[in-house]
Amino acid sequence: MGDSPRPYPLLSDAIRDRCLDCSQGAPGVRTCPHARDCDLWRYRMGKEDDSAQLPRVPRSKAIRDYCRWCMGAEPASQKVTGEIKRLVSECPDPTCPLWRNRPVNPILLSQS
Ligand code: SF4
Ligand code: SF4
Repeated sequence: MGDSPRPYPLLSDAIRDRCLDCSQGAPGVRTCPHARDCDLWRYRMGKEDDSAQLPRVPRSKAIRDYCRWCMGAEPASQKVTGEIKRLVSECPDPTCPLWRNRPVNPILLSQS
């Protein structure tokens, strides 16, 4: 498939695949120790895990927050800089399972 974005009709599948990449397989995802500091942890198993330690947000916002973390923000951060939002918008890695569903700001992109 090369560098083409992977299609993910379901956010749950996109998150699951990101976690499988991150932990290199299902056993690592199941035992992932980042309940307190990864925005995706609640949804890592494909369904919701209520023992997560970060505030509950829907999957779309968990992806948003994770992408912002990926570009330098704190986990579950409500205050992010315009620079971080721009970096997420311009993310150059379409092979990331979250890429299609990252928050994209057309205004920021048009200014770059
Ligand atoms: S919950 Fe976070 S740290 Fe754990 S496997 Fe998923 S992406 Fe990686
Ligand atoms: S889509 Fe980009 S910003 Fe979001 S997690 Fe993947 S690599 Fe990071």
